[in-house]
Amino acid sequence: MSADAARPHVLILGGTTEARRLAEALAAGPYRVTTSLAGRVASPVLPPGETRIGGFGGAEGLAAWITGHRVTHLIDATHPFAERMSFNAAGAAALTGVPLLALRRPGWVPEPGDDWTFADSLAEAAAVLPGLGGRVFLSTGRMGLHTFAHLTDTWFLVRSVDRPDAPVPPRLEVVLARGPFTPADERELLARHRIDVLVTKDSGGSATAPKLTAAREAGIPVLVVRRPPVPEGVQEADCVQCSQHWLQGSRLH
Ligand code: NAP
Repeated sequence: MSADAARPHVLILGGTTEARRLAEALAAGPYRVTTSLAGRVASPVLPPGETRIGGFGGAEGLAAWITGHRVTHLIDATHPFAERMSFNAAGAAALTGVPLLALRRPGWVPEPGDDWTFADSLAEAAAVLPGLGGRVFLSTGRMGLHTFAHLTDTWFLVRSVDRPDAPVPPRLEVVLARGPFTPADERELLARHRIDVLVTKDSGGSATAPKLTAAREAGIPVLVVRRPPVPEGVQEADCVQCSQHWLQGSRLH
């Protein structure tokens, strides 16, 4: 038996800071670690360990990959809004019997001085947005911009690593940048573009939280899109260390 076949094989579904941190934490052993990325970002920052890029072909494709590569543990560390992949992970775990953990950073909670409105989806956010402001920092990522494309009277600022694909709102300025951003960066961005409302997903974590601080300081309302739920029955952890404990506790599976 090769050394790789003897070690437990952890498949991390990645694309987040937590996924990278988990791969770093596990690099010292005793696991074989593979991180899977969707391939959305042109030049991603790769974690230590093995990596693979691109979709699996649904839950069945993921299940086949798990079986073919002797995966012993599956950790869904995708972004809290990567709903389809999380659903596929639950399906593949059910098909293969491999234990699954969803690693999700905690969501944000409003602080005194915040003026937050909540929406259950990007579509609901687009419906209520015109009542909140006309110069929008749309920080929901470049993938769902089509949901706002019909808002022809609203001016949008979008910041992303790669340029967004059409369809996008007609009055749109794109800033190409990769975070993290400091509160000073965010203050300057909101002021320079005379932003009067911020739209964000409840991504949680510290990397993108400074925009919330800047909005609070500037008295700008924030439209927060709530997270989709983790698939039913899937165990959740909210920190990298908790995921390591989970792995230690399920080593014999
Ligand atoms: P999604 O809608 O849940 O997934 C769509 C499809 O993309 C999946 O069915 C799967 O294709 C493929 N996919 C997604 N994540 C993958 C991964 N880690 N490895 C291999 N294939 C993956 O996902 P999404 O919202 O487009 O997000 C794509 C990636 O960007 C995720 O890795 C996520 O962590 C990251 N991300 C997402 C957001 C967000 O707001 N949604 C923000 C930051 C980062 P198959 O069915 O063919 O396997």
